Amino acid sequence: MTTSNVNSLPLIEGYYEEQIIRCMKCGMCQSTCPVYYEDSLETGCARGKLALSEALLHGKLEPNHKIEMIFNKCLLCHACAQACPVGLSPDKVFAAARAEMVKRYDMPWIKSIIYRKLLGEGKLSSLTGVLSLANRLKLFSLARSLSIPKMLGKSVERLSFVDLPDIPSRSFMDRFPEILEPKSKVIGDVGYFVGCAQNSVFQDVAEASVNVLLSLGYRVIIPKDQGCCGFPHYGAGDFETLKQKIVQNSSAFKKYKLDAIIISCATGGSGLKDVYPEMTKEDNINTLGAKVYDISEFLAEKHLDDLKKMMPKNIKEKEKVTYHDACHLNRLQGVFNQPRELLNIMPSYEFVEMENSTKCCGEGGGFTVYYQDISTSVANRKRETIKNTGAKVVALGCPGCRAQISGALKQERLNIDTKHTVCLLWDEIKKGKGQ
Ligand code: SF4
Ligand code: SF4
Ligand code: SF4
Repeated sequence: MTTSNVNSLPLIEGYYEEQIIRCMKCGMCQSTCPVYYEDSLETGCARGKLALSEALLHGKLEPNHKIEMIFNKCLLCHACAQACPVGLSPDKVFAAARAEMVKRYDMPWIKSIIYRKLLGEGKLSSLTGVLSLANRLKLFSLARSLSIPKMLGKSVERLSFVDLPDIPSRSFMDRFPEILEPKSKVIGDVGYFVGCAQNSVFQDVAEASVNVLLSLGYRVIIPKDQGCCGFPHYGAGDFETLKQKIVQNSSAFKKYKLDAIIISCATGGSGLKDVYPEMTKEDNINTLGAKVYDISEFLAEKHLDDLKKMMPKNIKEKEKVTYHDACHLNRLQGVFNQPRELLNIMPSYEFVEMENSTKCCGEGGGFTVYYQDISTSVANRKRETIKNTGAKVVALGCPGCRAQISGALKQERLNIDTKHTVCLLWDEIKKGKGQ
């Protein structure tokens, strides 16, 4: 299927070339694209970037940094794929195009440190140490007030926009043993994929996930040698480190005989379920050895009735809660009803839908650094829809969305909390136990 590959782009030839050629330029992807919505430029939407990919493949254009930046101008939100009448996945083509650019130009030094050193090498715990120290020394806010961002680049500026909680000095995996036994009879063995954000920053999510699974009677196994999921590397075009992560995580989980692997990070989950098979399709191997579930998917599909029995009784006052659909949970994993089912059994909350709940929040890894204005503008639209619900809590299933939405809410000093659905569930179970 290879045409005259004058520019030699081996990562987007073959399967991806077929995707590019099948685009019929209908423009159905345009109106769903959050980037196009903000800047109305053809290069923002999938059709424009696919046309660019075709021109590169056929040697009508030479790759350059300007083109590299156009491929970076995508949230990998998958909205175009959902809208495409011929079933293309343009986001996958753009990730491969980024990988071509990384092969050609390599990464900027700051990106290389973050992706290859902090997220790429060694154990997840080292990231916790770095973030915790920076947080305790208030380096993020100091950097902002001293205008250090201008010196160190946009990455630091971005970190000072998003809202991060206090970061404990010890990681989740350092605080918990590899195997946790339930107090009741064991009903099965599940592996827990922690992910770097939950291991270091949002440890409340990992704790709640593990505690709910233990309460249901699962033995929970948290392999110590697991690493970052590799999705950040996929998004940044660093396919080499991504493949190392697939090998590392596969061997970490395959050691155990597991009934399921549970993850409570939307992006990491789509990495495990979607990117791993995509990147290993040529050798056709089942990389992790057990079916992967998002925590809300697993709990709602298998244990909704058990959980209903654990809910507190006689709750007099209800608080309004709304739900934001992370692109990587809703579109890439098809998880839409399950978190709502969980929220609807919680007696302390009244669930209210927000308008456009499935619209991206504007967080997109490197995108937020390169295109801060667009990212912030998308987040501000999300904030308005949240405000309109009157909710005091936004439930969600993604650490990236949580930092982004929480940051946008803080900009207006709104008293609205952002919480992972499983944290709300665990709070309810604790209330139920206390009765
Ligand atoms: S993945 Fe999202 S941001 Fe990227 S082109 Fe498609 S719709 Fe636009
Ligand atoms: S909707 Fe699909 S076929 Fe139509 S322009 Fe977009 S990517 Fe191409
Ligand atoms: S996507 Fe989730 S699991 Fe993967 S690196 Fe990011 S926070 Fe960690």
